[in-house]
Amino acid sequence: MKLYTKKAHELHDLLVNKEISAAELVRAQAERIEAAEPKVQAFITRTLDDAMAQAAKVDAKIAAGEAIGPLEGIPMALKDNMCTDGVRTTCASKILHNFVPPYDATVVTKLKEAGAILMGKCNMDEFAMGSSTENSRFFATRNPWDIERVPGGSSGGSAAAVAAGQAVFTLGSDTGGSIRQPAAFCGVVGMKPTYGAVSRFGLVAFASSLDQIGPFTRDVRDNARVMNAIAGYDLKDSTSAPVDYPDYEALLGQSVKGWRIGLPKEYFGEGIDPEVKAVIEKAVKVLEGLGAEIGECSLPHTEYALPVYYLIAPAEASSNLARYDGVRYGYRSEEAPDLITMFKKTRAEGFGEEVKRRIMLGTYALSSGYYDAYYLKAQKVRTLIKGDFDQAYEKFDVLLSPTSPTVAFKFGDRTDNPLQMYLSDICTLSVNLAGIPALNINAGFANGLPVGLQLMGKAFDEAKLLQLAYAYEQATGCHSQTPDLGV
Ligand code: GLN
Repeated sequence: MKLYTKKAHELHDLLVNKEISAAELVRAQAERIEAAEPKVQAFITRTLDDAMAQAAKVDAKIAAGEAIGPLEGIPMALKDNMCTDGVRTTCASKILHNFVPPYDATVVTKLKEAGAILMGKCNMDEFAMGSSTENSRFFATRNPWDIERVPGGSSGGSAAAVAAGQAVFTLGSDTGGSIRQPAAFCGVVGMKPTYGAVSRFGLVAFASSLDQIGPFTRDVRDNARVMNAIAGYDLKDSTSAPVDYPDYEALLGQSVKGWRIGLPKEYFGEGIDPEVKAVIEKAVKVLEGLGAEIGECSLPHTEYALPVYYLIAPAEASSNLARYDGVRYGYRSEEAPDLITMFKKTRAEGFGEEVKRRIMLGTYALSSGYYDAYYLKAQKVRTLIKGDFDQAYEKFDVLLSPTSPTVAFKFGDRTDNPLQMYLSDICTLSVNLAGIPALNINAGFANGLPVGLQLMGKAFDEAKLLQLAYAYEQATGCHSQTPDLGV
């Protein structure tokens, strides 16, 4: 039995029926990580000893006849920007290479309480800045569908680990597309929840008005299951939303007949690879066949999303990253005769090129004289972008687009040209600016590489996105293919 291709809900049933034990599952998972890692390189840190101890506890519970929860005993991994008590959390940066948090992020606490078992921490672009995971200061992660290609980013390790069978599910963070775009490139399900739906307490901040945590899974049911575990109000995060959160999994399986799906025309125009477009158009036909009503709509300020994002995100990053000064935690330059030199050298040596580029862009945009011209103006246009979505949702329940204009690209293709790398996120940025939820599912393949479909919803409409995605998955079996790594 190839346990590493199984979904969490299938593994849960195997555990409950005593066909496997949690110890066997964790051991098999560790073997799979070992076998695939030379090719994929998804992990910065592995936590096998702790995992075996956790598994023993779950097995004791099962042996005693106690019921186990839906994620109990299931192996998972986390993007390395979520704080884990006693386990190194690096953000793939030299400046945090030795940082061991003294506490767990809220999502980690919740998943531990749910009994999920941590196998390790996943590679990413440094401080989540990037779209290919090539900005990690440690090494590049490879796409399991073609190891000559990037897995996407910034949560590339988390996406690749799920695709390669190295974890049943993982968490990533999405500031401008960092869950959905790597999910698209790796052919897995990735949810960017509504701003405020999942606590960010213990997430290392990049751009605080945009960052959200969400799950990568091998199918939609698992995604709903992990959302059930992590969504909810948290007193420790002042941006957390005190609303009622539904049981996402229980709502799956309903008919989508009569649902109104809008295709924003700006997401189907120039710049979208014709092969990607063809796969998406075919997916639209499937949904039409399921009884959904399809119509065109417009999000007229879409062209401003990229400049607005690349002002607001760096501005917030320049402020958030001011805390890395070599004093409080992480790396400190050895070569400093005085305090000011120590600050300068620590930051010069500790941060990579892209992080420095963002800090400079952001500091400039916030500086006196330029604040009104750049930052304030960007905030005003952000409101217009949000307004576009509000209007579209008057007519439609869900909007649909490609997740990325292309399939996974080759290593080095975009590293020399930051603007070209930024364009990778053209389909995902607006969602973060508007604070709404969006889900990537695999729509099909172009030349053997996965093509991602993005479903965008109204704030707190995650359940609808999951229902629609589930209907598509059931109709097409799009989740049943896994990459062959030859190991
Ligand atoms: N690729 C985008 C950036 O570099 C988005 C990153 C993210 O969502 N964390 O900022």
